Amino acid sequence: MLSQEMIKLGTQRSVIRELFAYGLQRAEVIGAENVLDFSLGNPSVPAPKEVEEAIIDIVKNNDPMVYHGYSTSQGHLSCRKAIAGNLNKRFKREYSPNDLFLTCGAAASLCITFRALTASPEDEIIVLAPYFPEYKVFIEGQGARMRLVPSRNDMRLNMDGIKEAVNRNTKAILINSPNNPSGVVYTKEEIKALSDYLMEMQEELDKTIYLISDEPYRELVYNDEPPAFIPDYYDNTIICYSWSKSLSLPGERIGYVLVNDKCKEKEVVMAAVGGAARALGYVCAPTLFQLVIERCIDVKPNIEAYRKNRDILYDGLTRMGYKVAKPDGAFYLFIEAPDGDSEEFSKKAKEHDVLVVPGAGFGTDTHIRLSYCVETEKCVKALPVFEKLMKEYK
Ligand code: PLP
Repeated sequence: MLSQEMIKLGTQRSVIRELFAYGLQRAEVIGAENVLDFSLGNPSVPAPKEVEEAIIDIVKNNDPMVYHGYSTSQGHLSCRKAIAGNLNKRFKREYSPNDLFLTCGAAASLCITFRALTASPEDEIIVLAPYFPEYKVFIEGQGARMRLVPSRNDMRLNMDGIKEAVNRNTKAILINSPNNPSGVVYTKEEIKALSDYLMEMQEELDKTIYLISDEPYRELVYNDEPPAFIPDYYDNTIICYSWSKSLSLPGERIGYVLVNDKCKEKEVVMAAVGGAARALGYVCAPTLFQLVIERCIDVKPNIEAYRKNRDILYDGLTRMGYKVAKPDGAFYLFIEAPDGDSEEFSKKAKEHDVLVVPGAGFGTDTHIRLSYCVETEKCVKALPVFEKLMKEYK
């Protein structure tokens, strides 16, 4: 007998994937330019030219046995050195290459971290809703429990909810800022309040509570103030990072786990990370892209197209009366359905060939997610449809 749970996971397509597949079919009928598909979080800005130059240079001037070969399990030392150097320069830290484990993207980083930290089915990871739907799959896939805490109505950290949720079984709290799906970036004050509380609870419960920071959108921030660097506030932090969004490389599967240098028993935690990566078959992240990242570590993403789309949509939608949390980062808007029924709103929008994702999968039924990593023209074209839809509700 096969695992029924895995069969279910393998056959149930996510709503996002369903909508995306529908969009492709519909494009055959009415033309791709007429399908306003805001379903998927696939970067629309091409990877910076430095990435292409690095690939060409590596392939032309290096030994294929190296760039096509295995690296060490943890990743090439030279790549980890480059990453540690970049973090140390930007955040004034003192990381060593040994604090980093290279992975196949943030998804692998998260699975590895959940596997490394949890030891029993009672162990809980606190997740804040709305959340990236795969968190549930990743946490439960590692045999642990996800405990959900709703965010405040404005999508900000709900400290009261977090205080109610933390208990003896809490292994970690997972945060994602800039957030998918809300685009919200937590302020330094919010991070400090969370960190102070977790420090208090570590004392009270006499145990370590980890703060896992999922940061694939760290570089996609639109206000001038850089977001809080979580390890500056909380020692027991583990960062799950990837270049999927910042360098537009989602298909290359490259990222890392950083165990903060001040983390309690960090060598043991890193050993567990290495063991989890091994058990999951996630060792030796793609070598070619380790070499690319080493060369492109200081390249900054071009976020202007996303900023423009955000401004057009946020300004337009709020003017029409839609309630939307101010997105200061990532490339998503989380929009409240006028009557609170996001399923119905998504259906209505689909009739106008606007594809937006209902919120149930993100843990919040009342909102739809709109991914604005699309051509700007599509954002402009979508506004009259949103206006028409709003009128239908009035
Ligand atoms: N975490 C969040 C919040 C995401 O939105 C995504 C992808 O969309 C991931 C993790 C997975 O990222 P990766 O493609 O690097 O595995």
